[in-house]
Amino acid sequence: MTTSHYIAGRWVEGQGSDCISVNDPALGQPFAEFMAASVTQVDQAVAAARSALPAWKSTGASERAAFLRGFAEQLGQRREALITLQMRNNGKPRHEAEIDLDDAIATFTYYAELAEQLPSKNRDVPLAVPGFTARTRLEPVGVVGLIVPWNFPLVTSAWKLAPALAAGCTVVLKPSEVTPLIEQAYGQIADALGLPAGVLNIVNGKAETGAALSNHNGLDKLSFTGSNSVGSQVMRSASAQCRPVTLELGGKSAIVVFDDCDVDQAVEWIVAGITWNAGQMCSATSRLLVQDGIADALLPRLQATLENLRVGNPLTEEVDMGPLTSQAQWLKVASYFATAREEGLQCLAGGKALDRDGWFVSPTLYADVPKDSRLWSEEIFGPVLCARRFASEEQAITEANESRFGLVATVCSADLERAERVADALEVGHVWINSVQAVFVETSWGGTKGSGIGRELGPWGLSAYQSVKHVTRCLG
Ligand code: NAD
Repeated sequence: MTTSHYIAGRWVEGQGSDCISVNDPALGQPFAEFMAASVTQVDQAVAAARSALPAWKSTGASERAAFLRGFAEQLGQRREALITLQMRNNGKPRHEAEIDLDDAIATFTYYAELAEQLPSKNRDVPLAVPGFTARTRLEPVGVVGLIVPWNFPLVTSAWKLAPALAAGCTVVLKPSEVTPLIEQAYGQIADALGLPAGVLNIVNGKAETGAALSNHNGLDKLSFTGSNSVGSQVMRSASAQCRPVTLELGGKSAIVVFDDCDVDQAVEWIVAGITWNAGQMCSATSRLLVQDGIADALLPRLQATLENLRVGNPLTEEVDMGPLTSQAQWLKVASYFATAREEGLQCLAGGKALDRDGWFVSPTLYADVPKDSRLWSEEIFGPVLCARRFASEEQAITEANESRFGLVATVCSADLERAERVADALEVGHVWINSVQAVFVETSWGGTKGSGIGRELGPWGLSAYQSVKHVTRCLG
């Protein structure tokens, strides 16, 4: 395993001052360490991306598509190693690690197809005024910085890398210091495919490295996925340089369960929405709004299901949920358990760390949580579900929308007309009806309100890396 940085087509050792420790969260122990990239190395990566830009943006769209298909194929060839690494470094159960890998493969394949269609998007624009012609050219934005978090390392990076490369941009990727080994695969694949040097650069590091990249004046755009606090710093650097930014930030999403639902089915959706990836999802549906008529039947069933989940080390046990990915996240979730006790919340399941090595917590359910509870409004990023009851459709919509975030929501109802109506009224970027966390590359990803700016995936994900130019000619 290469444990360093990929700059200008070469693997180099880090010259920064931070030592990055890579941990197995199921044991709470490190299994690799290496030095972060220095600020000078970030400069070198940006310079390499700048040098590579003219040639890369002039390549034919079909040539770029061939590289993207190569990424998809090579990810498949590294299947077992990448699944194992995600299980070991993220603590993901095997089936979740498999789905992440398949998502990354689907993303590269999809943007290969969109790249092939690019020439047809450059077309003449019909004008009402005679004597002129006009044509559209979609051009790459240029050199882009990509900063990503640790919860879905393969996926989040693929959602940025694939459209950026398809558009003809060159990139500097900074993975999270918590899971820095997984995205090394993208550098290894670039090597194996003979991607021109400098088109893809990877620098690893903590906040200092991230800030060096987001403050860099050699970038044309920055795309960031992560917390709101860092996102606002990234936006400040973008504003200082008047350059575009995409922000994919946090969430505190609602799952609305109407009383015409099948109880067992609803429980399955609710549990998946809060325990997948141990709840470490921007899109976790962590606020349960359950209608009065079904609440008394549903909550005990939900409690029993959460208590019976198999929580353990995905590498050695059959598990439904693994550990939290970092000690910092474990401490953060534990601090919310303490807050819940101070606030006197009614705990129906969990509410504690597990008494074993590693960073495990129990799947947790609090019932009848007051609206002014911190647990109701703040993103916890763990398997902690807060429930409230509602009487009417109107009340459900109002309470679901009472959030500073607006990433996703789930609506569960046998009345599909009502479900569609509620979906339309929710102030979020993506709504699931009678399904949970189903993300398809053709649909968009991104939030309203405090959940971010811009959209990834689908054609919108490609547009994020394109600049529109018109050429207008006078015929006279
Ligand atoms: P984070 O903001 O702490 O870190 C994200 C990335 O930013 C990391 O690579 C980190 O090293 C880097 N970074 C840290 N300080 C920086 C700075 N000052 N300047 C530039 N970069 C810096 O987030 P995290 O803890 O890694 O991830 C969890 C957060 O990500 C949650 O809030 C979650 O909701 C959000 N998230 C959002 C989406 C989405 O699509 N909306 C997806 C996944 C995660």
